Amino acid sequence: MIMRLWNARLLDGLGGPPVEGASVTIEDGRIVAIGTSVGDPPAAVLDLAGRTLMPGLIDAHAHVTADTTRSPGFGPPPELHGDDPRPTEIGYFVLAKTAAALLRSGVTTVRDVGSYGLEAIVLRRAIELGILDGPRILSCARIVSATSPGGKVFGSMYHEADGPWDMRKAVRQQIRDGADYIKIMATGARSVDREDPEPAQMTREEIAAVVDEAHRIGFRVAAHAEGLAGARIAVEEGVDTIEHGLSLHRAPELLGVMAARGIVLVPTLSTFADLAERFADMFTPRLVEQAKRQAEEARLTLVAARAAGVTLAMGYDSGPPGTNATELLRMAESGLGAAEAIRAATWGSAQALGIGADVGTLETGRSADLVVVDGDPLEDPGLLLDVERIWLVLQAGRDVAGNAPRPLLPSGS
Ligand SMILES: [Zn+2]
Repeated sequence: MIMRLWNARLLDGLGGPPVEGASVTIEDGRIVAIGTSVGDPPAAVLDLAGRTLMPGLIDAHAHVTADTTRSPGFGPPPELHGDDPRPTEIGYFVLAKTAAALLRSGVTTVRDVGSYGLEAIVLRRAIELGILDGPRILSCARIVSATSPGGKVFGSMYHEADGPWDMRKAVRQQIRDGADYIKIMATGARSVDREDPEPAQMTREEIAAVVDEAHRIGFRVAAHAEGLAGARIAVEEGVDTIEHGLSLHRAPELLGVMAARGIVLVPTLSTFADLAERFADMFTPRLVEQAKRQAEEARLTLVAARAAGVTLAMGYDSGPPGTNATELLRMAESGLGAAEAIRAATWGSAQALGIGADVGTLETGRSADLVVVDGDPLEDPGLLLDVERIWLVLQAGRDVAGNAPRPLLPSGS
């Protein structure tokens, strides 16, 4: 099966200037040739008429969960007293809607960093089985945490463990349950009133045990790290990504280590802004005040990490599904500019997930996970938030979403 895209403004995901008038050939789901479009379009090509062709967006920090309390309007309306109790299985339809919304917005891969139970893995499996279209999903199964107040708040999203051997067993359990990588809580969470996110929550020997256990078997480790003490241990013990990492501007030497070792930072600016503003009436006053400070620290860290040469990835950590490019826009406006923010949301996120050989850039040999955008996101990254401008979404060369008139090609071509 061969597909040829004609007359594209090509963004390769690596941050360089766009190439006008490009042609791209896709065979069996992979990009096999990139050339130029000269003259009239030949028969049986898909003419993009100068629209922007770029790698599909990758959200490196998402919660693909049926719980939509922080995605107002996306799930079912809030339950009223006296209403017929809702079956929990309704949640699977919410997950299906999430998968569709992500694809429709040009997100072709998500790394799920924690959902209730194993629902992200169930969704991943349903997509693999061809029951529905959806983004590639990488799941951590449950988040590995020390016994903590967060475990009480988040319930089945967490797997609590204590001491190095218990941590090793927790890692093995996640792999048994189908995890693609391991996520740990190196510090407490900004969204849990009884946790102070500043000190390390796991000890150095616990984090070292997790990293050793995961890496030995070939699994990557993502560390939730808000305060500096936990971020320091996580970086020094060799995790692969730092999630949030907002305090790192206070320790430039750690940013230097991250740059040298290829440890990726996922700054999640949106989650701090949301907690401080959009969802302020849903959190305790202490947490809202804390988030205001953290939002500013996260911005400082984004700038410092960029200067230190740390690879940055885009992680929205918010909702509703399909508005993930809000984070790309925030990164652009907080010091990266459009080109680097797009690079973070494509190449950078692929590095975070460890799948850069397969997706994240528009190069020969890569999977054809691509988005065609009506307009120029380098000029106006905000149009990535307008689904009317998402013209076509291809996943492994397959038409999975977008506004383009169907059929894409006249029949018989
Ligand atoms: Zn998160």
